[in-house]
Amino acid sequence: MKATPRHETMAQFPVQDNQLQIGGIPLSTLAARVGQTPFYAYDRQLISARVSALRAILPDTIHLHYAIKANSMPAVVQHLSAITDGLDVASLGEMKIALDTGVSPGNISFAGPGKTDKELTAAVAAGVIINMESEGEMERVANIGNALSIRPRVSIRVNPDFELKTSGMKMGGGPKPFGIDAERVPEVLRRIGSLELDFRGFHIFSGSQNLRPEALIEAQTKTFELAWRLSEHAPSPIEWLNIGGGFGIPYFPGEKALDPAPVAENLQTLLNNYAPRLPEAEIVIELGRYLVGEAGIYVCEVIDKKVSRGETFVVTNGGLHHHLAASGNFGQVIRKNYPVCVGNRVSSGTTEVVSIVGPLCTPLDILAGKMELPVMEIGDLVVIYQSGAYGLNASPQDFLSHPHTVEVLL
Ligand SMILES: *Cc1c(COP(=O)(O)O)cnc(C)c1O
Repeated sequence: MKATPRHETMAQFPVQDNQLQIGGIPLSTLAARVGQTPFYAYDRQLISARVSALRAILPDTIHLHYAIKANSMPAVVQHLSAITDGLDVASLGEMKIALDTGVSPGNISFAGPGKTDKELTAAVAAGVIINMESEGEMERVANIGNALSIRPRVSIRVNPDFELKTSGMKMGGGPKPFGIDAERVPEVLRRIGSLELDFRGFHIFSGSQNLRPEALIEAQTKTFELAWRLSEHAPSPIEWLNIGGGFGIPYFPGEKALDPAPVAENLQTLLNNYAPRLPEAEIVIELGRYLVGEAGIYVCEVIDKKVSRGETFVVTNGGLHHHLAASGNFGQVIRKNYPVCVGNRVSSGTTEVVSIVGPLCTPLDILAGKMELPVMEIGDLVVIYQSGAYGLNASPQDFLSHPHTVEVLL
């Protein structure tokens, strides 16, 4: 069988003396410092550089939020809280992490279907903006506010009447568990006027993992248009408009990094056009993956090597229990390889085609399928790039009861 083409090393992590460097530390030194494999390592300078580069092109008045579900390691969230304008959370656990950073509750928003009364009570008491996902949730928030004698800060999560085209994961358009259908929103806005709610505006998130500026531009343009149409029915001026995110990062051979410049330019045009129509609105974009995804790696160690009927398998101590996405089981239809390198032996005169698998007793536990890599030995360190988002916190760590992994922020 033909091997998939070998990935080049990724530019964000330099190579010195044939070793990958993370945060200026050679990988094998880092492994010694961490004290175990497998581990995740995130580079704070890369995260900061990504935020600065984005800020340099985004209009000044845009508020940049970090969506915690991409990577909820408290140190990462703390770091991002200092360089962004707010945090988006999707559970009580994430809300705790966000509040612990010291970010003002008015700059934290809480989305997600199925919020329990316990979660809503905590959110109302904390004063975070609740993105209401249904009419039932709205009634419960109002009741909780009355019981606590607090006017809850709320916005309506709108399920738009359009989709983010060619998005990796569609989150809006058509029937969805997320948000209130756009056509129901005028009615809901009338109801809000009769409840003790501090209505702030709308949250419209149409999809995730998009690499095409044209698709993002189209979605953002339609989002502004929809917000303006709905604002006519609002009981008070729109003070807050969260237009979602959807900026993707390249994972697979042939994918090209998103060029955010045209998206930022279009946002400036939209701000100019809508300033008279939504004069009091603070415009928020919320990004998860784009801010952290490329700044992280997952590192595991070669435990065994075997040949089975002509195919070479490299067996590591890391696998889908720590990194479900790299195994291809987190939303992929056809399994493709994440970029991989041998971190302590980045290039080598001799290569071979191998499949890298984890220790789990399931054929799904593949980290790299038939990839040409330097010939590996037991103890070598396998690195999965693009692992800063939807890595550990999107993985079934306890499946098969292997040891947990750890995360470090450098
Ligand atoms: C998941 C999610 C995000 C983050 O999406 P990314 O693709 O990681 O940028 C933003 N907003 C909401 C409401 C989400 O559910």
